[in-house]
Amino acid sequence: LTILGIESSCDDSAAAVVRGGPDRAEVLASVVRGQADLHADFGGVVPEIAARAHAEVLDHCVEAALEEAGLALPQIDGIAVTAGPGLIGGVLSGVMLAKGLAAATGLPLIGVNHLAGHALTPRLTDGLEFPYLMLLVSGGHCQFLVVEGEDAFRRLGGTIDDAPGEAFDKTARLLGLPQPGGPAVEAEARHGDAGRIPLPRPLLDRPGCDMSFSGLKTALLRARDAEMAGRGGLTRAARADLAAAFQKAVVEILHEKTRRALEIYLDRAPARPAFAVAGGVAANGPIRGALQGLCAERGVAFSAPPLGLCTDNAAMIAFAGLGRLAAGATDGLDLAARPRWPLDAGAAPMIGSGR
Ligand code: ATP
Ligand code: FE
Repeated sequence: LTILGIESSCDDSAAAVVRGGPDRAEVLASVVRGQADLHADFGGVVPEIAARAHAEVLDHCVEAALEEAGLALPQIDGIAVTAGPGLIGGVLSGVMLAKGLAAATGLPLIGVNHLAGHALTPRLTDGLEFPYLMLLVSGGHCQFLVVEGEDAFRRLGGTIDDAPGEAFDKTARLLGLPQPGGPAVEAEARHGDAGRIPLPRPLLDRPGCDMSFSGLKTALLRARDAEMAGRGGLTRAARADLAAAFQKAVVEILHEKTRRALEIYLDRAPARPAFAVAGGVAANGPIRGALQGLCAERGVAFSAPPLGLCTDNAAMIAFAGLGRLAAGATDGLDLAARPRWPLDAGAAPMIGSGR
């Protein structure tokens, strides 16, 4: 099967072509047009600007993806589109385009949950078998999911406040380091002493897989002010020590909570146990190293999809759509765009039911 995927749920307009089956597929083309420059002056994504930009560039993305794949629409078997969750204007831009293409060509239309796209990516990149444990850790997300099937996700826990990527970005701001904060803090931490400045590990002593990062951020602010007091500024050594202390706290929280999530997951004795970490924060060396080490101890295969397939893209949407099409789960032209669509409430939408 060859599937065209369309993604427009946040600030990336994307189209991709994926070919294969639900267990293994190849990305023939993946085009992503970011909008970061359009939103830069506003300190965040402006929904109206995003929706307008998607409407302007999405069809070019589709053309570019088809060209890159060397295919024309008649050679495609289905059109998959993100139907939510996300900024509703953007999601609608994609859904309208997909409906138009489906109506014009008679091709099946497949509404995909954006989060399912992220969660199924390790199958596309590493062929992981169900069930696998996944940690999605990015600028906006932090959650453990057991991926049990194309349409079956069990959430074990996640952050109750900030996402770690956001905390890395705030830490960089507090320390006068550039954005995005993750790589800058990681580099700074290499020269620091992670043991000198004590920082809390919120929720670490509580049972379960839930996490919290906002207290860490507040503690870092106080520790920074204490370091600056009487010195008129932050010394290079203090900056490095703060970065190292912060990163160590995040590593320890993720390590401990992943250990617990693995326990719950391994309890069900999966035939080929596997763990995947995805999202921008998975690029962090010490975090990745800690999680990989944990998996090695437990005899669990470790996978970390390449960053280009962890951040928003349409290849993951096309691949998730491929699975749904193979299972006969297509949608009608009344496919609804959904601003909210939790994964573990059942990924299969009752499209048009208004649920
Ligand atoms: P989401 O997709 O969840 O809505 P997002 O688009 O911000 O959020 P990503 O693009 O996956 O998420 O990740 C970006 C985040 O990853 C940023 O917060 C960035 O600081 C963080 N990040 C990137 N590299 C590193 C690193 N080496 N160490 C820690 N954090 C990192
Ligand atoms: Fe995303």
